[in-house]
Amino acid sequence: MKTDVEISQEAKMTSITAIAKKLGIKDEELEQYGNYKAKVNFDPSAPRTDGKLILVTSINPTAAGEGKTTVTIGLGDAFTELHKKVALALREPSLGPVMGMKGGATGGGYAQVIPMEDINLHFTGDFHALTEAHNTLSALIDNHIQHGNELNLDPRQVTWKRVMDVNDRELRQIVVGLGGRTSGVPRQDGFDITVASELMAILCLSNSLSDLKNRISRILIGYTYDRKPVYVSDLHVQGALTLLLKDAIKPNLVQTLEHTPAFIHGGPFANIAHGCNSILATKAALAYGDYAITEAGFGSDLGAEKFMDIVAPRLKKTPDCVVVVATVRALKLNGGADKHDLNTENLSALKKGIVNLKRHVEGMQQYGKPVIVAVNKFATDSDDELTYLLNYVRNDLKVTGEIINSWAQGGKAGVELARKVITACDQPADFHELYNHEESTVLEKMQAIVTRIYGGDNIELSHKAQLALKRIEKMGYGHLPVCMAKTQYSFTDNAKQLGAPDNFTIHVSDLQLKLGAGFIVALTGKILTMPGLPSHPAALDMDIDENGRITGLF
Ligand code: ADP
Ligand code: MG
Repeated sequence: MKTDVEISQEAKMTSITAIAKKLGIKDEELEQYGNYKAKVNFDPSAPRTDGKLILVTSINPTAAGEGKTTVTIGLGDAFTELHKKVALALREPSLGPVMGMKGGATGGGYAQVIPMEDINLHFTGDFHALTEAHNTLSALIDNHIQHGNELNLDPRQVTWKRVMDVNDRELRQIVVGLGGRTSGVPRQDGFDITVASELMAILCLSNSLSDLKNRISRILIGYTYDRKPVYVSDLHVQGALTLLLKDAIKPNLVQTLEHTPAFIHGGPFANIAHGCNSILATKAALAYGDYAITEAGFGSDLGAEKFMDIVAPRLKKTPDCVVVVATVRALKLNGGADKHDLNTENLSALKKGIVNLKRHVEGMQQYGKPVIVAVNKFATDSDDELTYLLNYVRNDLKVTGEIINSWAQGGKAGVELARKVITACDQPADFHELYNHEESTVLEKMQAIVTRIYGGDNIELSHKAQLALKRIEKMGYGHLPVCMAKTQYSFTDNAKQLGAPDNFTIHVSDLQLKLGAGFIVALTGKILTMPGLPSHPAALDMDIDENGRITGLF
């Protein structure tokens, strides 16, 4: 069996200009980064007719991920196989998981976007630009305090942390400004991973350069000694920060192994941020393609809920069809099977774990759009397991279910699923909001997500979260949507509670105002915004030889 990187290296790539031509992207709209990558100068305000939007999400995953990206790419190639004009919209990989545990974000097997090494490593530099912009703001804040602190910022209440795109647990809590009078004012600080940066969320929710600048100027960086909010606009640095992102805001264009165009842009994690690629990339896919297929991170409880409640209102478009990816493996895990034992047939664990799929499907159905289950086939799945799963989907859940085997066989093994998705996209369906965006309180919004999407009963706010809520409401920001930060492994805030638990409470430890992004982050359970590396990080298996040939990148 070939590795992902071997398959990618053997691929015959088409020039990016030819890929752009497929979509009708004009030469002057294309900024090439070599022969196979480009940025697209896309003007979202130009009048165009939008294509259909397909949102790919999944059940609760195992640690390896359950193949949403792989299925999204395979489905895209299946649309190409059916001669449809299709474009993908995906997130850029973070180096944290690439060097750590989860792997890349370019799909796998015969359903990949290429060149996978470039996309997984530094790509077109967007994350670096973002990291630099973020930390430039940190330095400007500390410099302001050092030089007289005219704004009266309380160093103990600076809420803007530093970031880097590395899983580095050592940096979660640090003290900066040590070294005496010329080395700054000591204060407690910490690093988050770049994909948790508010700037990442802002980049992904911005519709234009001026929208980006406006959002950046609204970022709340901390409070004064007398507890008044301080914004980026008070420091007058929104211009400098925006110019650092002038190229990062443009969507990147690459191709799949079967030459389907793919926009890959932005990459907030779905457990600690909003989990969807940039609005500009999705808009580009919709504008240039008759079908746009996008992926929201982790399970439907995280990325897809955030797509529906945070992204869709800003995109001004809701999905025409939702595809929930399920695997026999993850369902067995949800049914109590041992994580080292997912390759052996275990129908009883599958039958127990299937409730997880049911809750994800029913959660998504509340939004009113057609929901389809895609069974991502692994070579280790038994026929009996696959038959049971498909029958359950069709007869018990009464939704369309189809196997996709694109990981092993590429686009042609997703054609049946693609046909069903196309039919679903033509079904008339009204979108239903999960909560009233104008009138619900912060608590009501969280309550709606917890009871209707997670299947829980209650939310409980820590003392800190209660104080934060009071402050948010007093400041007049209670109308903002809530971005839940929660473990991806469970509907609850406890990673170990698999399946579809009932009668549980979600514990909110803190609420953070992200005024640039335009949402409130609710931190639940033990969620961390700077991951650590596992005992055997993926980095240990990677290499590059004297000819530049890379191995071990999955
Ligand atoms: P997600 O987007 O849900 O996180 P990915 O698509 O990134 O998941 O897939 C996670 C890992 O699982 C990748 O290494 C991918 O190659 C592998 N994978 C996905 N689908 C299959 C499959 N059908 N058979 C074997 N491996 C798969
Ligand atoms: Mg993915």
